[in-house]
Amino acid sequence: MTAAFEKNLRRAEKYLARFEDGVLGHFIGGEHAANSAPGETFEDTSPVDNRVIARIAAGGAADIDAAAQAAAAAFPRWRDTPGAERRRILHRVADLIAERADEIALVESVDSGQCIRFMEKAALRGAENFRFFADKADEAAAGRSMPASEHFNYSLRQPIGPVGVITPWNTPFMLATWKIAPALACGCTVVHKPAEWSPLSAMLLAEIMHAAGVPPGVINTVNGGGETVGKALSEHPLVRAIAFVGGTETGSAIMRQGAATLKRVHFELGGKNPVLVFADADIERALDAVLFMIYSLNGERCTSGSRLLVERGIAGDFLARVAERARRITVGHPLDPRSVVGPLIHPRHHAKVMRYLELGRAEGATLAAGGAGEGNYIQPTLFCNADNSMRIAREEIFGPVLVAVEFADEDEAVGIANASRYGLAAYLWSEDAARAQRLARRIDAGMVWVNSENNRHLPSPFGGMKDSGIGRDGGDYSFEFYMETKNICVAHGGHRIPRIGA
Ligand code: NAD
Repeated sequence: MTAAFEKNLRRAEKYLARFEDGVLGHFIGGEHAANSAPGETFEDTSPVDNRVIARIAAGGAADIDAAAQAAAAAFPRWRDTPGAERRRILHRVADLIAERADEIALVESVDSGQCIRFMEKAALRGAENFRFFADKADEAAAGRSMPASEHFNYSLRQPIGPVGVITPWNTPFMLATWKIAPALACGCTVVHKPAEWSPLSAMLLAEIMHAAGVPPGVINTVNGGGETVGKALSEHPLVRAIAFVGGTETGSAIMRQGAATLKRVHFELGGKNPVLVFADADIERALDAVLFMIYSLNGERCTSGSRLLVERGIAGDFLARVAERARRITVGHPLDPRSVVGPLIHPRHHAKVMRYLELGRAEGATLAAGGAGEGNYIQPTLFCNADNSMRIAREEIFGPVLVAVEFADEDEAVGIANASRYGLAAYLWSEDAARAQRLARRIDAGMVWVNSENNRHLPSPFGGMKDSGIGRDGGDYSFEFYMETKNICVAHGGHRIPRIGA
């Protein structure tokens, strides 16, 4: 064991100690709150060894109601707080995240199984999300000016009201900040429901926001199950909108649940993202990106490049090199700085991914690397000679499993890329600029990266087509969701008004 690993273990133990005793409840109206039903709890386990690291309140409709009431009560004042003041407070949130980035990363790593090398960056990205949207707090209300001959129309935007944010377990802290920061920047108040498999960092975030001066009720966090707390949140009449990140089937359920109260919804859902590698690509860079986009973050990543489409002429060599590098990736304890792939989130998820490994063999794909797993771990796996009709090529596996399909030409590549229910991200590798432009337009995906891995630029739109989502995040797109556009029409004074009954 290296000194750095040992140090991480020691510090993680220190930070996790607070969660060991008692029950982690909710954060409502600026205070820690016990569960409405005191006996109802569930266990939060660490993917490292499936040991219980915390006991969590299994909230219910009463807890959501308390949180929604708190968010509604806090809304008018937060909405009317000058943008400059919201900006100041949210920058303070970012400062405190950066100060506690170490603690956030260590807790998140043990809770989610994601390797510390990635979680350190994710915590800091959380701070960046707050800074980025804080700087836009003042301009969020800005609209358009639309002069006409007899009237002057101008639009402005106003925050929609209290909103619900429901997040998944894969990179919980970063995703929560990505959703919550724009909501608060534009003047909405929030009820957040974190995922039950990795809920700890959400409480750190609520505490940090409170300490930074976010007023009571502006952020509320309620723990519990999806079909209880998540459902109650998406049905609550005081909650105007639901920003959801998670699985496609859950997105449909939320849409149904929110129908009676006409919820506005924003969905970031699953993906089976194609990576197209042409013979004229910069092969070394493509290789690095292909490996990074499937095996980092345990492959538990919505934008993972999980379908590798390779031009036939280079497929043999290219796939042999992917396999060789995949076999050399260090799988291990997430707090070991050398680890690249850690344990999958939960035995249930591990079992699901293992079933896909069996299925891939049964469907006739060739296992070129990995294919085994122990505990919650899975070796980085590569299936070659796959056909896009196979389930391993169609369904989201959400683990370190890459499925390679060969193509002959551009048209076939686009056909395969688009033969998917999903349309979140696509990655294109070709040094032919014209081809890259052509294909980028033809591929059904909300985001296309040309000669790059997933590289985030906060003002740019993030989101998917087809079953991968509804709506876009990032920059002004986030405000479009969290705000109502209002048009104000002012007459110049002399236009003719129809006279009836005169
Ligand atoms: P999930 O859909 O099972 O759960 C996500 C959240 O929804 C959890 O908090 C859960 O408790 C809650 N939930 C479950 N049922 C609910 C219901 N009926 N009503 C309201 N809430 C409910 O997803 P997961 O397994 O936690 O996460 C993995 C999925 O998330 C993958 O499909 C992945 O692609 C997707 N994801 C998408 C993005 C993106 O930006 N597109 C990012 C990360 C993860």
